[in-house]
Amino acid sequence: MQTVSPKNQKKKSSSNHQKGNSPRKGWGLMPKGSSFLSNLATTILIFLLLMSLYSLAESFTKPDTTIPLSTVAADVAEGKIQSITVKGDSLNLSYSDGSEKTSRKDPSAGIPETLATYGVTPEELAKVAITIEGQSGFEFWFLSLAPILIPVFFLAFLFWFLSRQVRGAGMQAFSFGQSKARVIDPADMSQRVTFKDVAGAREAKEELLEIVDFLKSPKKFLDIGARIPKGIILMGAPGTGKTLLARAVAGEAGVPFFSISGSEFVEMFVGVGASRVRDLFQLAKKAAPAIIFVDEIDAVGRTRGAGMGGGNDEREQTLNQILVEMDGFEPNEKVVVMAATNRPDVLDPALLRPGRFDRRVTIDLPDRRDREDILKVHAAKKPLGPDVALSVIAERTPGFSGAELYSLMNEGAILAARENRKEITQYDLIRSIEKVMLGPERKSHLLSKREKELTAYHEAGHALVSSILEHADPVHKISIISRGRAAGYTLKLPFDDRKMQSKKQFLDDIAATLGGYVAEELVLGDVTTGPSNDLQVITALARDMVSRYGMSDKLGPIAFGERQLGNEPYSEKVASEIDAEVSRIIDEAKARATDVVMKYRVVLDAIAKELVEKETVEREAFEKILVLNGIIPKKKEEEI
Ligand code: ADP
Ligand code: ZN
Ligand code: MG
Repeated sequence: MQTVSPKNQKKKSSSNHQKGNSPRKGWGLMPKGSSFLSNLATTILIFLLLMSLYSLAESFTKPDTTIPLSTVAADVAEGKIQSITVKGDSLNLSYSDGSEKTSRKDPSAGIPETLATYGVTPEELAKVAITIEGQSGFEFWFLSLAPILIPVFFLAFLFWFLSRQVRGAGMQAFSFGQSKARVIDPADMSQRVTFKDVAGAREAKEELLEIVDFLKSPKKFLDIGARIPKGIILMGAPGTGKTLLARAVAGEAGVPFFSISGSEFVEMFVGVGASRVRDLFQLAKKAAPAIIFVDEIDAVGRTRGAGMGGGNDEREQTLNQILVEMDGFEPNEKVVVMAATNRPDVLDPALLRPGRFDRRVTIDLPDRRDREDILKVHAAKKPLGPDVALSVIAERTPGFSGAELYSLMNEGAILAARENRKEITQYDLIRSIEKVMLGPERKSHLLSKREKELTAYHEAGHALVSSILEHADPVHKISIISRGRAAGYTLKLPFDDRKMQSKKQFLDDIAATLGGYVAEELVLGDVTTGPSNDLQVITALARDMVSRYGMSDKLGPIAFGERQLGNEPYSEKVASEIDAEVSRIIDEAKARATDVVMKYRVVLDAIAKELVEKETVEREAFEKILVLNGIIPKKKEEEI
């Protein structure tokens, strides 16, 4: 149960986007391991085959000469048997006529007693030579230890086999030291990315053009004594194409692209990260002109010493090594270091000092025109149906990053393929918007009748309050089909690509988000856990309004920053004033939402009824309900 308007959805780094450059090598173990396994299997098979052949042959060549004890006793009594050799429990019988036979006795009794029970007299027995042979030591031990030893051997073998694999992996980790950095060779056309592949991001591309020029003809710049920045840091939300852009710079300039990711260092052994950085820079210098790209540099470049419970040594050493290498550049070095981060706020200031990453390029989320261009780039190799209008898709996806647009296009293609169509239709793409935004529909999640009604009222509450309050966004779609973690959702469509939001918009937003909670309370006289996510969102928003945007009349235009242990930019008193203001904002918003829901209860019921019936209500159907009840639906600017 959540309201989603694309502009303020929480961005996760989208999982299904292409991860730029990672031709994962070094899994050479897999084939080796599996061929070893198949060797083992063949060996065992051959062994089993031989064993069965052997026992078969034995049974053919040796006629069965085992006789029952009663016969033995009778033969002894008749004096036919010359000697008996006892070996364990088996008896070897030598007959006077020279034939040999075998038999077995009860393990607990000796041979004289055994025969006596069959009625052999001591006199008769005296005529037979009885020798008792001990089992050979080996045989005895083998027979008694085999049941223990075989599993032990098997386990030992298993351990050995597994440890071989682990050691293999360990070797890989060690070889990191000699920089197994991913390199993209400019000659490899299949991996080549140029500025053409990066749609939008005009300012960023313009800034980077200078670097491309330098890498293409460094001499021109060096001769005139121009100092080219060593370090460029790309900043932007996840999925805005930072990695892509860095690769494009290398592609445009036709130089090798060495890349490592900050997050890889965090899990390595101490010292490996630093030595890897050293090797990487060495390699790049040899290949100069070249680009070194440190992706997700915030993973190693966080402000040092910050945070609880000691720093990560590895991280610090790696960061120091990067700084040392950059400081050690000769003025005529033709290596440019690029880095990317989506958390510029946590970067260690040492990284941003002159002579290091002093050039900053910000990449914004794409606006409508850029979104259309990005969609076009990713539609290039896909067959689109005649009804596809990418401009409409672009219009409906404010807040989407390049990576999300990429996966939208991809989802569209998957939908078409699953329905065995050769072309992607507009409807495929429209459905994909929601899938990318909220995760896949969970059709299997069946709501009980009561849950369904509850969800319907909750979403109807959001939709109604959004439609009534002046500054809230118009409703675009309501659904009670659960998606991802949400039981239902109300999609709102912001009027345009807003870069700024006003206090009035925030306040109406908070009220609309509380619409779900209020509707549940009013209709059921009770509140469920459903709106917990809604409450988190509005609490955070109200707090930001007060402490970051200066939108509280009482506290005034002050940005208070975050209050943490050991970092207390304002007093306890102010902290409790902020809390009070947050409560006041939410209370007032709740009162306004309640007013709307009570006043328009008839409309609320109508929307909820439609939702229970149809499960999904599109904008037209929703607005029909509004009009029937005398409410004028909101229009977007260009619709007026
Ligand atoms: P970031 O590094 O900023 O998280 P990436 O560069 O990894 O983002 O982008 C992921 C994918 O999203 C890219 O491989 C590309 O397919 C797509 N993408 C992102 N931005 C753009 C863009 N401006 N133009 C075309 N594709 C883009
Ligand atoms: Zn909700
Ligand atoms: Mg990236």
